Amino acid sequence: MRGNFAGVIINRLALHIDKIFDYRIPDELADKISVGSHVFVPFGRGKKLIDGYVLSVNTETDFTGDLKEISSLASPEPLFDEEMLAVAKHLKDTCFCSYISAIKAILPPGSGRRNKVNDKLIRISRLNLPCDEAFEVLDVLRSKAPKQAQILELLIQNDFVANADITFLTGAGYAAIKALKEKGFIKEEIIETLRMPLNYDEIVPTCSPQLNDEQRCAVDTITQSIKNDASDTFLLHGITGSGKTEVFLNCIENALESNKTAIVLVPEISLTPQMVTRFVSRFGKKIAVLHSALSLGERADEYKRIKRGEATVVVGARSAIFAPIKNIGVIVIDEEHETSYKAENAPTYHARDIAQLRTDMNNAVCILASATPSVESFYKANSGEYKLLTLSHRATGAELPEIIVSDMRDELKSGNRSCIGSTLMSEMQKNLDRGEQTILFLNRRGFSTFVSCRSCGYVAKCKNCDITLTYHKSRNTLTCHYCGYTIKKPDKCPECDSKFIKEFGTGTQKVEEELKNLFPEMSVIRMDVDTTGAKSSHQTLLARFSEEKTDVLLGTQMVSKGLDFPNVTLVGVLAADQSLGIDDFRANERTFNLITQVCGRAGRGKKHGRAVIQTYMPENQTLELSKSQDYLSFYKEEIQLRQSLNFPPFCDIVSVLLTSENEQKLHDYAQNIAKSLHQVMAHDAGGYYEILGPAVASIPRIGGKYRFRIWVKCTLDKKCTDIFSRLRNYHIKQGNNINMVIENNPYNTL
Ligand code: ADP
Ligand code: ZN
Ligand code: ZN
Repeated sequence: MRGNFAGVIINRLALHIDKIFDYRIPDELADKISVGSHVFVPFGRGKKLIDGYVLSVNTETDFTGDLKEISSLASPEPLFDEEMLAVAKHLKDTCFCSYISAIKAILPPGSGRRNKVNDKLIRISRLNLPCDEAFEVLDVLRSKAPKQAQILELLIQNDFVANADITFLTGAGYAAIKALKEKGFIKEEIIETLRMPLNYDEIVPTCSPQLNDEQRCAVDTITQSIKNDASDTFLLHGITGSGKTEVFLNCIENALESNKTAIVLVPEISLTPQMVTRFVSRFGKKIAVLHSALSLGERADEYKRIKRGEATVVVGARSAIFAPIKNIGVIVIDEEHETSYKAENAPTYHARDIAQLRTDMNNAVCILASATPSVESFYKANSGEYKLLTLSHRATGAELPEIIVSDMRDELKSGNRSCIGSTLMSEMQKNLDRGEQTILFLNRRGFSTFVSCRSCGYVAKCKNCDITLTYHKSRNTLTCHYCGYTIKKPDKCPECDSKFIKEFGTGTQKVEEELKNLFPEMSVIRMDVDTTGAKSSHQTLLARFSEEKTDVLLGTQMVSKGLDFPNVTLVGVLAADQSLGIDDFRANERTFNLITQVCGRAGRGKKHGRAVIQTYMPENQTLELSKSQDYLSFYKEEIQLRQSLNFPPFCDIVSVLLTSENEQKLHDYAQNIAKSLHQVMAHDAGGYYEILGPAVASIPRIGGKYRFRIWVKCTLDKKCTDIFSRLRNYHIKQGNNINMVIENNPYNTL
């Protein structure tokens, strides 16, 4: 539409200007400006030009004063269309974030200007402080060091950016990056760029195997909906290896035949070359891959192919849900229960919600696939909101592994202090003798090793965050995993001078040492955040393991997903209790998922698989149910619990997190906010609600800032969503030094 006026949002994160400003469109730009145009406009009192994005083009304006004119275009092509703008508006309304951060979520990587870097090892930078704080720093830097501000802004928008890209995009020299690093705002890492197997010529094309009856039925039902333009959501429930991927590959094929397109989301961690090859061998050059380990340039290039309509199937992690693809026929979310589908920084959207919005707008079908669906999704399938499709057996006929629960209390009684119990030990010996491979899994909680004094009980904690420091043996340092604070490990106790200050807890390094003592002849590959840094990447370690020359793969959650090695016949879960003890209503669900995933790694091939689960509470209900791999029984127990305690899916749960350096002011303000919430909810909420707190958050202080949280249970309908938007606006008007983050159904509750 041609118009005389444009509504523009300014590309600044300052909250008081987070609204739409009207500008006059000069005649010479009238043909070039549309929704999504990236423009320069005069802003504020000076003559300075600032960039912004056009959100509307109108023939009239309500503004009565003297309107300024748009000065020029900042990018030749519009960066988004009406459909994606609607997505951004939805983000703003449901994630309680600023307009501009919602817009940033839908922009192409690097916003249009772009070239590429292709080194194998690249040096990258990423933020070293929470996003909110980065925004504050940004405001200060803008006047003092504009180049540094530009860099910081780029890093707020992207998980990480190659240094070469940073200097290219901002025109800043390396000195600016170094200065930011020295101030502690950003950190540098060396990573290996994933060479995605997009050398199409080398990949052998494949076609679908003959589908079994259940698969056939699922494909036919879904295809029917695609053909009828019915925006149905299907929950495809099937154990690992039951052929879910084959089902959605076939559905996508049918969508393409009807000239429609597809988006497939997979968890970041399972976006392996193995997985991508499977898609490319079926769809060839129609596939575009969006992956955060691609350089910014490569990502931008993939965006171009999608926009031009060359790529019609997008495969990617969470943010691929914003791919600018047209005429969508189907959106697939594989492993839909994965928590990585929820964004942790603003806008804190869940990919499932955005998928549903986009399928509604396109009259397309949404497929949620999982062996262990989220309790929320299964509830919706039971109540008829989603359509349930079930695959009940493994497509290749391989058996599920036998699961053995090993009671670690007996080990302690018999004097075995090792983290490997006698059951696991003898199973490992069998594998060693037979030349079969083993995967040992230690989850994240178990990974942290802390240092304490055995004389006085002193525990080394972070001076900024009040949480226990983690010991890193290879560097002999203690590090805070939240703020990065690092000290050398003390030789004697700072409290009582005792020399008996030692590490406690079980980390992967410690397990590795124990393995060396127990089985001196055994070869072990350890995979955790320490070993998958600069030198040897995730992929190289896995490649070494898959050559079958290594006996054991030991690791954190990296080893729990998506790996498929036929010679692995034994999986050990070293400490299953670690994820049960967490103070979070999702703890059971997480444990069940985790054990199912890990055990799914054993016996993928023809040989019989076993899984040994070590625990101090073998009678725990969730462990019992994961032992029999009985999702339905687990769901029945869990849904009753959720209902009786009123947790999702029976309500939404909203976190209002307040942080500040001034504890007293924060405390008083949190009390006030809670009081107003009580009043407003009583008046406007309509339905059930409950307000909990304010209480000190599980981690009381991070990076010098105290943290208080208010939990609100309610149903986030229009009325309640409005209440939280108003709360946010009220807070912005206060202009105090307190930070407020409102989040809808967060996964991170620390
Ligand atoms: P899931 O996604 O449920 O884990 P996949 O689709 O990856 O399952 O299938 C598991 C294995 O079974 C794959 O190797 C796949 O090629 C194979 N497979 C799937 N469906 C069939 C079928 N109908 N006939 C033969 N093999 C199949
Ligand atoms: Zn001491
Ligand atoms: Zn800290």
